[in-house]
Amino acid sequence: MKVIIIGGGIIGLSSAFYLQQAGYSVTVVDRTDMLEGCSYGNAGYICPSHFVPLATPGIVRQGLRWMMDAGSPFYIKPSLNKDLINWGLKFLKSATAAHVERSAVPLRDISLLSKQLYETWATMPELSFAYAPFGMLELFKTEQNAHHAEQTVEEAAALGIEAKILDKAGVSQLEPDVAIDALGAVYFPGDAQLYPNQLMLSLLTYLEGKGVQFIRHREVTGFAMTGNRIIGVDTTGGGIAADHVVLAAGVWSTALARQFGLNIPMVGGRGYSVTFDDAPYKVRRSIILSEARVAISPMDGNKLRFGGTMEITPLHTPPRMRRVQGIFDSVKRYFPEFNLPLPGADKVWYGYRPCSADGLPYIGNLSRYSNVTVATGHSMLGISLGAATGKLVTELVGNTPTSMDIKPFHPERFCR
Ligand SMILES: Cc1cc2nc3c(=O)[nH]c(=O)nc-3n(C[C@H](O)[C@H](O)[C@H](O)COP(=O)(O)OP(=O)(O)OC[C@H]3O[C@@H](n4cnc5c(N)ncnc54)[C@H](O)[C@@H]3O)c2cc1C
Repeated sequence: MKVIIIGGGIIGLSSAFYLQQAGYSVTVVDRTDMLEGCSYGNAGYICPSHFVPLATPGIVRQGLRWMMDAGSPFYIKPSLNKDLINWGLKFLKSATAAHVERSAVPLRDISLLSKQLYETWATMPELSFAYAPFGMLELFKTEQNAHHAEQTVEEAAALGIEAKILDKAGVSQLEPDVAIDALGAVYFPGDAQLYPNQLMLSLLTYLEGKGVQFIRHREVTGFAMTGNRIIGVDTTGGGIAADHVVLAAGVWSTALARQFGLNIPMVGGRGYSVTFDDAPYKVRRSIILSEARVAISPMDGNKLRFGGTMEITPLHTPPRMRRVQGIFDSVKRYFPEFNLPLPGADKVWYGYRPCSADGLPYIGNLSRYSNVTVATGHSMLGISLGAATGKLVTELVGNTPTSMDIKPFHPERFCR
């Protein structure tokens, strides 16, 4: 049976990994060379600590304040674009305390499944991606966030996720190589981190070696259908026959899904990162600066990556260096010793997170077209949830029971 995967980001490649293992003939079609999209320059967190979806009442309140500040972590370019308005209205409707509570268990379960699968991948000699299971620190500077941190620890405990509050001395004990200006931190010992660029390259080489076919620089433009089945995809280089199609085209999936009548509202949440290959400063684990929403990732030896911002802006807008400056300014407030020059725009990476309208991914088969599986909308968690998504996709393609309950991720939830 021939499965076509549209999109060679982490979701497409993880799906290819498990589909190939299950014996399917797999082809990945991507309109790029698959070497620099959203799955590359991200922070690489594998984070069961992130059991709260993006759509929360807090982000709506905070987001409105941040929008007035050009260097802040969050920005929506005002627009009358129909898709943005559709997404925004659904996001506002989803951002309730009840939704946050309902989402915690499914997010925890898919995160833990994924982490367990990454641990298996880390033992495979063919794959290398600098897996670092050293936990994550979420630093806070304000009393308000200290209070919020206590709540997070309680919620984590209720979900069985280990988390504890550290005071300033506790933070220094875990990070003795740098001076940190923060009141304290939440420490999540169960989180891990990987070097996403290396993971992606390693997967590409491994999958090619296993006979997965890659068609690069070809855009999927439509679908050939007969009755309630898709029989192939149309591309800029001609048609390709398929027995099953996996839609894993990141934020671009929304437009493709519309062609078979599916509404999966998404916007591209642009984030930036800068990587210093041989940083003079050392942190030992992933660190989030909670007030600034900045991620710091030590990677693969001496590399240090700073990433952040969520900018809802039309795709292909030139990068806004003021936002990158905002990341650097925030780092300095927590790490006064860090004197890092803002690099030129050519050294700044950015990618578009596929942000669903409720902060949960879209994973599932379609009721109308029985041979289409959707796997996208992972927002800020595509790497973290990548391996599990690939496994779930393979179970869905094979119509076998899934490793966890995936009803909350149903891709048709906004069609009802
Ligand atoms: C600054 C930043 C930091 C982040 N940090 C983390 C983190 O620490 N942990 C984490 O879990 N996540 C993180 N993320 C989010 C994560 O990077 C994304 O969720 C993830 O990369 C999405 O993967 P994807 O495969 O769905 O999409 P993509 O990586 O965007 O891949 C989609 C692919 O589809 C292809 N495509 C699109 N349309 C077509 C078409 N019509 N035909 C053919 N091909 C097509 C594209 O070329 C692309 O290669 C971060 C993101 C950013 C921006």
